Amino acid sequence: MVVPSSATAAIAAFGDGAGITVLAGGTVVTPLVTHGALWPHRVLVLRAAGLDGIEDGATLVVGGAATLAALAEVAPEPLAGAARIPDYEIRGQATVGGNVMIGGDLQPALVALGARVRSAGAGGLRVDPVEDFIAAPWGRLVLSLEVPRPQAGAFLQQRRRHSHTHPVLSVAVARRADGVHVAVGGLAERAPAVACPSVERALAAGAPVREAAERVVEDVQPQDDSLASAWYRRRALPVLVARALERLEQLDAAEGRR
Ligand SMILES: Cc1cc2nc3c(=O)[nH]c(=O)nc-3n(C[C@H](O)[C@H](O)[C@H](O)COP(=O)(O)OP(=O)(O)OC[C@H]3O[C@@H](n4cnc5c(N)ncnc54)[C@H](O)[C@@H]3O)c2cc1C
Repeated sequence: MVVPSSATAAIAAFGDGAGITVLAGGTVVTPLVTHGALWPHRVLVLRAAGLDGIEDGATLVVGGAATLAALAEVAPEPLAGAARIPDYEIRGQATVGGNVMIGGDLQPALVALGARVRSAGAGGLRVDPVEDFIAAPWGRLVLSLEVPRPQAGAFLQQRRRHSHTHPVLSVAVARRADGVHVAVGGLAERAPAVACPSVERALAAGAPVREAAERVVEDVQPQDDSLASAWYRRRALPVLVARALERLEQLDAAEGRR
């Protein structure tokens, strides 16, 4: 077990990621080890590596080991809503880096916000658009996220009542300087979140919210899983997207933007 006391030491210990298991909040890794489903060769523990800071500003810089609870305190919507996962105990322990790696609830919010991921691994340090990073996150150590603050945002989820499951669907919308951005998650367990350019183009062309929201089915490939069928997700998603966009319209109206 390696417990580095600085980011530099963590990067050195991680190397190219081969043969090493990162342990951050441990909400996913620890149960796997406890139940014998994972037998790590070498474990890199991040708790003392100084990767849990959050710098507030026009761009929020969030350390990879910051907790979802800490993030929810300072993040703008839709990220704060995504960070407020229903399970309080998990929220206080789960980290941003672990969430990004496992396809957690933060992903659609980060995509809608145009966030970037700073990571280490083979080839050295890299900064990637979050969409590129989550498409192939393996072999990278998440150091921090750079999250530009939007003008406004909203996050909506459909979940089963029991909080210990992934969501049936998540929708994040953000008004940024160049227009409204929309992203969707929960299309299947651990499936990466995706942007919704068809919806964004329809909105930019002046389509009413409900009409633009219908276009979401052109941007996604939902799957069947234990929580919902692909058919159901295709039917429910335009409704959820429309509701999130209506929430954004309400915020715009309240703040005099439209
Ligand atoms: C009861 C329960 C409820 C949950 N509810 C939700 C929920 O509502 N929404 C949700 O999104 N998630 C939920 N989760 C899943 C999980 O807790 C979160 O996604 C959490 O953010 C994972 O972070 P962690 O630090 O605990 O990850 P860990 O368990 O430490 O690691 C998870 C994975 O990510 C890797 N990893 C961790 N940090 C890094 C890093 N910095 N760089 C590279 N790899 C890294 C690990 O090697 C491992 O593969 C829940 C989990 C439980 C047990």
